[in-house]
Amino acid sequence: MSLCLACGFCCDGTLFNRVPLTEPEVVALKVPLQIGDGHHHVRQPCVALDGTACRVYSERPLTCRRYRCLLLEAHEAGEVSLKGAVEIVEATRAMRAELAAASGVSDDGSIVEVARVAGEKAPPEVRQRLLRLEKQLAFHFVGQRALQR
Ligand code: SF4
Ligand code: SF4
Repeated sequence: MSLCLACGFCCDGTLFNRVPLTEPEVVALKVPLQIGDGHHHVRQPCVALDGTACRVYSERPLTCRRYRCLLLEAHEAGEVSLKGAVEIVEATRAMRAELAAASGVSDDGSIVEVARVAGEKAPPEVRQRLLRLEKQLAFHFVGQRALQR
């Protein structure tokens, strides 16, 4: 299994809440990607995600094609083994599960955005779990690349 098929964080809402679409993509996409709020984007968790796989992989938007997280880059550069990278993904997923448990909801990527929006209104335990997860995501996955998506 590839690293991305063991992960899915850049599609399931853990890292992002939307994927921007170009105008031509809005016209050309033949797949029923959700476009909301009058803007051109795919909301996340993405409706095209099946487990950790993209159902529209061959037609996925340009932003999806271009995106590579820090962990994927490090793995492809030979700096992190597949086993080591998957362990980081699993540790991150466990942190997200702890956030969901503290929030009293079932675990999927959407809990991250819910907790972010709640901000200071969230209970202390939720804020603490979110902060821990955000640090993990920033260190291993996003870095400065959050600005590019
Ligand atoms: S690019 Fe990174 S965040 Fe996205 S699925 Fe691959 S390993 Fe996970
Ligand atoms: S279209 Fe595919 S690659 Fe892009 S966010 Fe959705 S599931 Fe991920």
